[in-house]
Amino acid sequence: MANLRLMITLITLLVYLLPSFAISSESTKVIILPKPLNLTLLTDPSTISTASHDYGNITTVIPAGVLCPPSSAEISRLLRYAANGERMFQVAARGQGHSLNGQAAVSGGVVINMTCLADVTVSEDKKYADVAGGTLWVDVLRETAEKGVSPVSWTDYLHISVGGTLSNAGIGGQVFRNGPQISNVLELDVITGKGEMLACSPQLNPELFYGVLGGLGQFGIISRARIVLNHAPKRAKWFKMLYSDFTAFTKDQESLISMDNDTEVDYVEGQLLMSNGIVDTSFFPPSDQSKVADLVKNHSIIYVLEVAKYYDDPSLPIIGQVIEKLTKTLSYLPGFISMHDVTYFDFLNRVQAEEDKLRSLGLWEVPHPWLNLYVPKSQILDFHNGVVKDILLKQNSTSGVALFYPTNRNKWDNRMSAVIPDEDVFYVVGLLQSASPQNVAEVERVNETIIRFCKDSGIKIKQYLMHFTRKEDWVEHFGSKWGDFFKRKDLFDPKKLLSPGQDIF
Ligand code: FAD
Repeated sequence: MANLRLMITLITLLVYLLPSFAISSESTKVIILPKPLNLTLLTDPSTISTASHDYGNITTVIPAGVLCPPSSAEISRLLRYAANGERMFQVAARGQGHSLNGQAAVSGGVVINMTCLADVTVSEDKKYADVAGGTLWVDVLRETAEKGVSPVSWTDYLHISVGGTLSNAGIGGQVFRNGPQISNVLELDVITGKGEMLACSPQLNPELFYGVLGGLGQFGIISRARIVLNHAPKRAKWFKMLYSDFTAFTKDQESLISMDNDTEVDYVEGQLLMSNGIVDTSFFPPSDQSKVADLVKNHSIIYVLEVAKYYDDPSLPIIGQVIEKLTKTLSYLPGFISMHDVTYFDFLNRVQAEEDKLRSLGLWEVPHPWLNLYVPKSQILDFHNGVVKDILLKQNSTSGVALFYPTNRNKWDNRMSAVIPDEDVFYVVGLLQSASPQNVAEVERVNETIIRFCKDSGIKIKQYLMHFTRKEDWVEHFGSKWGDFFKRKDLFDPKKLLSPGQDIF
């Protein structure tokens, strides 16, 4: 009997230690997972290659394998195994891999393909939706709008994952009014770096809840988010107005984001059109397009104010009132206003058309040395003069979009990990440049020049979607939040397994 028991124990041990897979020679590292974990890692060259690259197209970071989890239990098993032994491998959740510098990658570790966890369930009272972490925002919109409801805060582009944007902030033209996406979450299910599956909210495990929101994937993997919903409007009136004067442009933007009444618009953004860049005039009627191009040529920089007002019923007076207010109170260049009337869905999904266009030209999968900054309102003129006029405009050429719009700090929750400037109003500046393999280093040098200029002139920028490689830069970035960030890492991911591509720990 004792011999039989010994034999069973030996067989069990053997089975436990037998590898469930061996990795292909493409990867740099082999991870052996014990069979009882019942986890299959994908290691075929195509899967590994996809997980090694991201939208930035600047880095290549090769994982050992990719897990497509059927449920959050598999993620928990993987992390428990990784956390309980010697640290053999690290783990990175990956939504769409729309990061810029390998933030969703892991060298020699396991990438978790979060798109395997995609689902949207709208609550009976339609006040919130429970959304799986890998769901694309465009699918959240589809599923909710079908029921007449919608989240209230959106990124410009919707083919990115809920877990990915909640790990950053999720910003766009509705933030001034509704806050970033991280401000519109009621609770989360999270798998920590120790493999624990925890629900969290402002009341339950608040340290984890606030840490994960804007937490760059450092404390846990979001498997479910409960997202606030409101009425889904049917249509949007979408306006663009042109300015040649920077002060008039920013004054109007700031006035629009401070309004709080019925004629308030629902969305405020802005862009720069520069004579050394691509001037997209397509929003304007064909008869005006050459006039717009001439304006840019003559003034070097033209500022585009972009706003939208949502509505259901075109026969109600509100749209007329909004148009009257915009045309009477704003100081755009006379005649340079254009208006489109589109469905709410098409308005929110507007970048899809750009993606299709760029893909068809082979210009989507190119290097993207983007620089995203928050600039305090009090220093925006210095920033404009020093960066836009003296650095960007002096380049031989620029490519891509330059976003430029203000937003309100009081819509953010300072207990969350996301970092923003310490001023009531700050600007979002997105220098979203495309490059070629030949000039990517040059664009990165211009980005460094911009950051150095801001530092030297005391402009207190904060970066968004940033990638620092030096610890001191992270400490400076987080400022007074660094202590909490560090403590939370120790608490929820003490072996430092999660999202190592952020290069923080
Ligand atoms: P990934 O790149 O896959 O992951 C980002 C980080 O989050 C990684 O560290 C990853 O490990 C971690 N992560 C991913 N999923 C989870 C999860 N479930 N739980 C925990 N951690 C996770 N951002 C805006 O805010 N506003 C915009 O308007 C906007 N527009 C964009 C337009 C384009 C064309 C592109 C390419 C990006 C844009 N972004 C915008 C940036 C976008 O928010 C980030 O790329 C973000 O990372 C989401 O992308 P993703 O789902 O692919 O995440």
